[in-house]
Parts: sequence; structure tokens; C-alpha cells
Amino acid sequence: MSDPPTPPVLEAAALCKVYESAAGRVVAVDDVDLSVVAGSFSVVMGRSGSGKTTLLNLLGGLDDPTSGAVRVDGDDLGEMDESRRARLRRDRIGFVFQSFGLLPMLTAAENVEVPLRLVSAEPDERRERSEELLALVGLEGRAGHRPDELSGGEQQRVAIARALANRPHLLLADEPTGQLDSRTGADIVAVLADVVSSQGVAAFVATHDSAPLAVADQVVRLDDGRLAPVA
Ligand code: ADP
Ligand code: MG
Repeated sequence: MSDPPTPPVLEAAALCKVYESAAGRVVAVDDVDLSVVAGSFSVVMGRSGSGKTTLLNLLGGLDDPTSGAVRVDGDDLGEMDESRRARLRRDRIGFVFQSFGLLPMLTAAENVEVPLRLVSAEPDERRERSEELLALVGLEGRAGHRPDELSGGEQQRVAIARALANRPHLLLADEPTGQLDSRTGADIVAVLADVVSSQGVAAFVATHDSAPLAVADQVVRLDDGRLAPVA
């Protein structure tokens, strides 16, 4: 008998998120189905307010859907208690944000080591891994710099290195080039494409610019929360 097929690294099925408030009802994510295979680069396009951040927060288990399911490596996030979900986020998902999210008092190397401390990695292993990752993102000369001593593009490289620290299967990036000029943004997209091919991680990147399209294996578009394929 042959082995069962490997599940996609990420799946959403009939995913919905509805916000109800005094101001009214917003269907931010509307019946979304998607699938991301291991080691691939996916892009979700959409204008501001189309639901990209809400979708990424649902896919990464940072927020609960109103209905529908998210599976990571075949495991249903909705069937997990919060501590198991937190472990899955820590061990299998790396997050990259528009605003970098680095800790200002820590050096680049120390920022990259934060997720390694959370899994109690030994100091030698932490140092080795952070050196390897900073080299991977082209920052070998900047390990001792704090965020305010780095350019925006360099800070985002550190954030990508940090996201990879625990060897995730999935990298979720919410407008990672949104605060960068177009040339620096294109460099960051190239770094993401490089880590997808060299680390075997799958990337799912939300954007409202077209820079990542050239490297994408899959492109989808969000329009008022609804997902449509892009030809
Ligand atoms: P994008 O990231 O594409 O700009 P968002 O996911 O941030 O879009 O927002 C999608 C829609 O959901 C918007 O109309 C936004 O106003 C609404 N929304 C987002 N978060 C909330 C919230 N906490 N409460 C109510 N509405 C929200
Ligand atoms: Mg957003």
C-alpha cells in the first residue's frame, strides 16, 4: 500500500469572519477556500479594507473565524485549545508584519534569537542559528545593530530571519513591503522568494502592490472579503 498523501501546509474551508458592532455588520472574510502546498509562494492581492489582515490572522490562528475551518499540516486549528494553538504558531508558523515588530532594545541577533529562547534552545545553538539566518537574509555585518541603527529594509530582513528561527513550515506576511520604497520592497520580495526555495518554507503574502507577482506560484485576489483567482 502507498503512503497517504501529504496534506497541504495550509487549508481554509468556507472560512468566514463577520464583525458585528454598533456601527453595523462587516463581512470581512466571506466564504474563503484556499490551499497552499509545501514550499510554494502564494500572494493574496487586494485593496485596503478588502480583508487581507483579517484573513491572515485567521490563517495564523491569531483570531477565531465566525465559521469555517483552517488546517495547518492537516491539523484543524478550531479543534485545538489555546495552548496547543500557541505551540503550533510557535513551532510551525513564522509571522512578518508591515511594521517589522522588532524589539527596540535588542540587537538584530538578539531579535532573531527571541523565538529560540521560547523553545529553550541552548546559547550556542541560538548564536549559530542567528548567524546562519542573518547571513541568509544578507545581514552578516549587522548582527550587533539595534533596530534604530538599521534601515527599514534591513529591519524587515531581521524580521524575516526571526520568523524563520524555529524552522516553520509556513511564513505569513502581511504587507511586508508596505512601509518600504519600491526598490527596497522588491529586494524584500527577493529575500522572501529566496527563503522559500532555500528553506523549503511556504510563504503566504498579502500585498496591495504588484512586486511579488513575478515570484508567485499562486495569486489570488480578495474583494470585499471574497476570494477570486487571478488569471
Ligand atoms: P485589509 O487588511 O485588506 O486592509 P482588514 O482585514 O483590515 O483589510 O479589514 C477588512 C474589513 O473589516 C474592513 O472593512 C475593516 O473596516 C473591517 N474590520 C477589521 N477589523 C475590524 C474590527 N475589529 N471590528 C470591526 N470591523 C473590522
Ligand atoms: Mg491590512
